[in-house]
Amino acid sequence: MTTDTAAQAAYVVAALLFILSLAGLSQHKTSRSGVVWGIAGMVVALAATVGLASRSITATGLVLIAVATALGAGVGLWRARVVEMTGMPELIAIMHSLVGLAATFVGWNGYLDVDAELSGSLLGIHHAEVFIGVFIGAVTFTGSVVAYLKLSARINSRPLTLPGKHVLNIGALVAFVGLTIAFVARPSMGLLIAVTVIALALGAHLVASIGGGDMPVVVSMLNSYSGWAAAASGFLLANNLLIVTGALVGSSGAYLSYIMCKAMNRSFISVIAGGFGTPAAAADEGEQGEHREINAEETAELLGNATSVIITPGYGMAVAQAQYPVAELARKLRDRGVEVRFGIHPVAGRLPGHMNVLLAEANVPYDIVLEMDEINDDFAATSVVLVIGANDTVNPAATDNPSSPIAGMPVLHVWEAANVVVFKRSMAAGYAGVQNPLFFRENTQMLFGDARQRVEDILRGLDSLDTPVREMAGTSR
Ligand code: NDP
Repeated sequence: MTTDTAAQAAYVVAALLFILSLAGLSQHKTSRSGVVWGIAGMVVALAATVGLASRSITATGLVLIAVATALGAGVGLWRARVVEMTGMPELIAIMHSLVGLAATFVGWNGYLDVDAELSGSLLGIHHAEVFIGVFIGAVTFTGSVVAYLKLSARINSRPLTLPGKHVLNIGALVAFVGLTIAFVARPSMGLLIAVTVIALALGAHLVASIGGGDMPVVVSMLNSYSGWAAAASGFLLANNLLIVTGALVGSSGAYLSYIMCKAMNRSFISVIAGGFGTPAAAADEGEQGEHREINAEETAELLGNATSVIITPGYGMAVAQAQYPVAELARKLRDRGVEVRFGIHPVAGRLPGHMNVLLAEANVPYDIVLEMDEINDDFAATSVVLVIGANDTVNPAATDNPSSPIAGMPVLHVWEAANVVVFKRSMAAGYAGVQNPLFFRENTQMLFGDARQRVEDILRGLDSLDTPVREMAGTSR
């Protein structure tokens, strides 16, 4: 068997391992094995690629590959070890930017170093690949950099609303199509520079025009773009595995974006068009009335008298690392005969499945963790809702204020419960920068402070309560 055949066979094995990895990652229980399949696929892919390259490069080239691999692996391990769960989206965004940058370089290299054997229509196809690869890569690069800056709060998450922003986006796409035709007919560096500049500007503008509340869709969309950028590089490098892997990432990212669009009631087509950012609305409209406060002891008493409790966690629970005392609180209440369930919004936290991961880490049983659609009708029959560090995902303005930047986004109907206790440190707005009328409702009380400390205070308060243990309550209130 030649090195080439062996490498192609290894590529097929790696592609199958990546598919197994995606399948494993689709469920909590199999997600760890999904990661292992992915690592195995990447090891096989790297070994095969180095094997292939070793046929035609010098010893210096091999040393350079080894140094690059060691550096990349070192940085990857370091970042993965130190990153906080809450910092994952920005890490993912910056990694997407590297895929975009690499695809841009591969495209440029494809222009500067054309295979002498190519001629006629094959040469035309090559030039089209160069142009498309550079375009997708550059859009992904700047789009991901802006997403990183927004997610890490280095720039404001409010949408940029340039006059005629849709015309600008469509104009850039039309220019791209025109320039591609011109480039295939008569390739020139000037045209390649022009498309690179247009794509860099388009990527930055697409993401800058999107509001904070819609960022989850942007992250998964960039994930998809990075896949297509990798696939484009695969065509240029004649690397089948890169094409397959890029297509897997591109299509799974697009599907995730579709699911998230549905969950957030956004139009998938307008996301792809990039112009779905809501017009700039008042970021923080200020306080909308009087709010009431409650302390931990009173909350413990309220919970001690409850028959049913729903906990709706959000980003603040992740920041406070409150999942362990929250899990303990759920256990204690269940021991007292209170029905306890968790209501999870699809974009709670800062990455898909964020809350599910935290609750699983703290050993909260899966069967009491329900998705928004499964639990939304039950709030009205619930004694107490604990909103732990969630804000946008429980904001009634999304349902009853059509001019709100988050209007139309489905939210957890926590306000329908008899009592709502909101855990947060201040009256500040959530990630989308929108004030939350929930805080001023008659049945809402604010429990200020770090979520972890407050839940621990409540646990102590519950210990000191002398309430008789009741039978598991099937009904509410
Ligand atoms: P939000 O980001 O809307 O609000 C979190 C709340 O937690 C804040 O109001 C904050 O208030 C409070 N908080 C922060 N730290 C603490 C702490 N230590 N203790 C107690 N409270 C704390 O959270 P949600 O989960 O409701 O919504 C997620 C938002 O993030 C949505 O807008 C979503 O679109 C967006 N997003 C989601 C992504 C995803 O994939 N899931 C990705 C990117 C963005 P205070 O400062 O007063 O304490």
